[in-house]
Amino acid sequence: MFKDKFTSIREGYTFDDVLLLPAKTSVEPKEVEIFSKVSRNINVRVPIVSSPMDTVTEADMAIAIARYGGIGIVHRNMTVNEQARIVVKVKRSESTIIRNVLTVSPETSLVEVRSIMKAKNVSGFPVVSGEKLVGILTKRDLEFAGKSSKVVNEVMVKDVVSAPDNINIEDAREILYRNRIEKLPLVDKGNRVVGLITAKDIVTREKFPDATRDSKGQLMVGAAVGPFDIERAQTMEKMGADLIVIDTAHAHNENVLNSLKKMRKGISIDLVAGNIATAKAAEDLISTGVDGLRVGIGPGSICTTRIIAGIGVPQITAISDVAEAASSENIPVIADGGIRYSGDIVKALAAGANVVMLGSLLAGTEESPGVEMIINGRKYKSYRGMGSIGAIQTGISDRYGKIGANKFVAEGVEGAVPYRGKVEEVLFQLMGGLKSGMGYVGARTVQDLRENGEFVKITSSGLRESHPHDIRIMMEPPNYQIYQT
Ligand code: 5GP
Repeated sequence: MFKDKFTSIREGYTFDDVLLLPAKTSVEPKEVEIFSKVSRNINVRVPIVSSPMDTVTEADMAIAIARYGGIGIVHRNMTVNEQARIVVKVKRSESTIIRNVLTVSPETSLVEVRSIMKAKNVSGFPVVSGEKLVGILTKRDLEFAGKSSKVVNEVMVKDVVSAPDNINIEDAREILYRNRIEKLPLVDKGNRVVGLITAKDIVTREKFPDATRDSKGQLMVGAAVGPFDIERAQTMEKMGADLIVIDTAHAHNENVLNSLKKMRKGISIDLVAGNIATAKAAEDLISTGVDGLRVGIGPGSICTTRIIAGIGVPQITAISDVAEAASSENIPVIADGGIRYSGDIVKALAAGANVVMLGSLLAGTEESPGVEMIINGRKYKSYRGMGSIGAIQTGISDRYGKIGANKFVAEGVEGAVPYRGKVEEVLFQLMGGLKSGMGYVGARTVQDLRENGEFVKITSSGLRESHPHDIRIMMEPPNYQIYQT
């Protein structure tokens, strides 16, 4: 019985165990398409998801990742209210059409207008009388009015330009430009204000053509929740989150599966569950009705689960096992953890993932919430596992290791990663590497890469040969940084 355990033992592969075979190609890297799916209903133009960790994803990261075509998942190591505020901040950061338009009446005093402007951080108002649009008041009109005790009616622009509610963005842009105005109120048939388009939002929208947006033009964002925290999931949905990501170290657990069924019924946005690393877990999770799977037990750069608990599946094998089970049901797979270079992204997708989730590679960016520090004259940012002692003690997350009220067994470490500049630069390098890899394989799309990428297993000498060797590196390119100092 014990001996049998080893007669049919499988070999598990991770990123460094394999390479992709170059294949005959007619595809140039600049022609490839890298759009993909994060979950059943969430499409992205760039296959990157930022990890829900307290040194990776808060508002700035979620905004940056969504602007450049991926999606950020806000971590849950904070109160529901704090997390909700971040979700709202991302959703409000850009919107092509503002719906809850703040208005003032012709009789409102300018003193009051100024205080609303300051409190709500807005730069102008449509003016309404008896619900009807009668004028517009901008910051400029106020500046000309000086400190006088006038009312809105005396300084507002009365021949206000407005447009019908169903106007398309191109036409709105034209009206704003032709009239040299900043704000375009949208009105219904009764001349009641039902929306507002600003020139600033249109310019921002054009600056980020790949951005992941919802139907209202707002950036998309996900929120992590514990497997039993239905209330948090419902609050996040109410606050505008587009995706709920279940955040547990081991989702293949009867209690979690039962809770997922309830959670699926309790929310209407997409639900991604994880983490898992086997085909059986994928099948059981899919049967609860989830819309996506998050794969990775122990590959993370800050993670000690495999060492502390002796558990895990090398990530390339885990991805391919889960993807095999998920593909018949068309459920997207997120490869989470262990990605150090752009080549690892190409391998993860070729093994069956639809998108990858990044922790370490994004923790070093300007937009991460981690603390900046200088070590030996070099800039770093703090990065820690959500199962590290620091994360467990300072937060309320229970992802790893809580055993009893105040006792825990850590499954992660705390440290620092090299500073890497802005998210935009990091993504540019990573996606450049992905496109190059797709060119070598002859894959025009991520789906092509998933279906046709072929692996070769390598030895430790093959790995040594793969990295630069027999040279003292004098200059590190941004996509090949040396981590150990
Ligand atoms: P990285 O991109 O840094 O290699 O991995 C990030 C992933 O590691 C996260 O998305 C999450 O799945 C996992 N992770 C985060 N913190 C911990 C931890 O403390 N312990 C373990 N086992 N995994 C962690």
